[in-house]
Amino acid sequence: MTQTCAHSKTRTLSTEGFARDVSVHPYTESNPAAHGNITERVECTACGARRLENINGRHVEVSPWRGSYAERDAAVQRARDAVRSTRPTPVTFTRASDGETATVSVDTEGRLVVDAPTFAARKAILGALPVDFAEAYEAHSAAMNALRAAEGELS
Ligand SMILES: [Zn+2]
Repeated sequence: MTQTCAHSKTRTLSTEGFARDVSVHPYTESNPAAHGNITERVECTACGARRLENINGRHVEVSPWRGSYAERDAAVQRARDAVRSTRPTPVTFTRASDGETATVSVDTEGRLVVDAPTFAARKAILGALPVDFAEAYEAHSAAMNALRAAEGELS
């Protein structure tokens, strides 16, 4: 089901000095007379969609509407799924001399966890991490950052 909103009632989220043209052709038109003063970030009070508005006296230039509450919620859910699917599988090391094991994993906050008895052992294990684990950890970190950005868009 597609719902349309006229975005008729808005509230201002922030006001900053003019920085750039916010129009996106062919959706909205550039208006140089609206440049040079302030840019407001506004939100539709009904659906949560947002846009930028350059305002200079009676001159206005707008960006297209984007990101209703539902769309931003869906983006957070997709980002959470990406974080879940990219979490590296723990790697267990066994020391040849005595058969003692240590495990490297990634916790739910995206931190690398080295389960080894001493600092020297942890350092040795980090130096011996397989390349595929390191690459998986990089991808997971990127997914965590994308999730934080998506969550930031909700507020
Ligand atoms: Zn709306």
